[in-house]
Amino acid sequence: GGRGKELMSPQCSVSGVYHVFESVAKKYDVMNDSMSLGIHRLWKDWLVRHMNPTPGTQLLDVAGGTGDVAFRFINYIQARSKAVICDINKEMLKVGKEKSLRLGYSEGLSWVAGDAEELPFADEKFDVYTIAFGIRNVTHIETALEEAYRVLKPGGRFLCLEFSKVNNPLLARLYDLYSFQVIPVLGEIIAGDWKSYQYLVESIRRFPPQEEFKEMIEDAGFFKVTYHNLTSGVVAVHSGFKL
Ligand code: SAM
Repeated sequence: GGRGKELMSPQCSVSGVYHVFESVAKKYDVMNDSMSLGIHRLWKDWLVRHMNPTPGTQLLDVAGGTGDVAFRFINYIQARSKAVICDINKEMLKVGKEKSLRLGYSEGLSWVAGDAEELPFADEKFDVYTIAFGIRNVTHIETALEEAYRVLKPGGRFLCLEFSKVNNPLLARLYDLYSFQVIPVLGEIIAGDWKSYQYLVESIRRFPPQEEFKEMIEDAGFFKVTYHNLTSGVVAVHSGFKL
């Protein structure tokens, strides 16, 4: 009947594609919220408060995905500032861009496809480089760190939010149980994707602990490298400066 005809019309095909992206975005954000029990929002808030950016700050958010860090950055400054969101996955960028229009964040944001290991930007262009839950996924962490150093202005700051090593024994046990028993199940139920979420857990285990990662950042040339554990080290924020 009429419904079938509607579904076949070209206009509906276009909105069909739109809805596919919508559902990817929804899934990504819903997964983030459900797996971290919403706590990833607080960690991202903390990251931007710690950055304490001033008006005029030029931010590059690498592996920026659907824009969570960039939106918080714009919110925090409440004045004209620029942020570039760079991600290797064009679909994540599309979803983020769409979200930015919906939430009214479009001004001052640009979305650029690119690899953290080979950033498509000139040297010494940005005041702050952020990477949240992204560096764990790049193939050569050292290369990504060198690229971060290259694109920062002298005096610029590197900030990384990433899963790290839990330092409380009781919480560590609970976290292990949760990671290996609950997360893949949630991945299967919500996204129909057990394997990806098992990979997620394994990639968290493989990532270097706080001190080791700190040394890697220093080896890339950064100074005054520090880190803060959040939620007993479930995540850590590493910071360093280019002199
Ligand atoms: N930063 C966002 C957040 O905190 O919600 C997204 C994090 S998401 C877990 C990881 C992102 O890293 C994905 O969007 C993925 O496409 C991106 N990514 C993976 N490898 C990358 C690379 N080599 N260069 C740039 N982005 C990469």
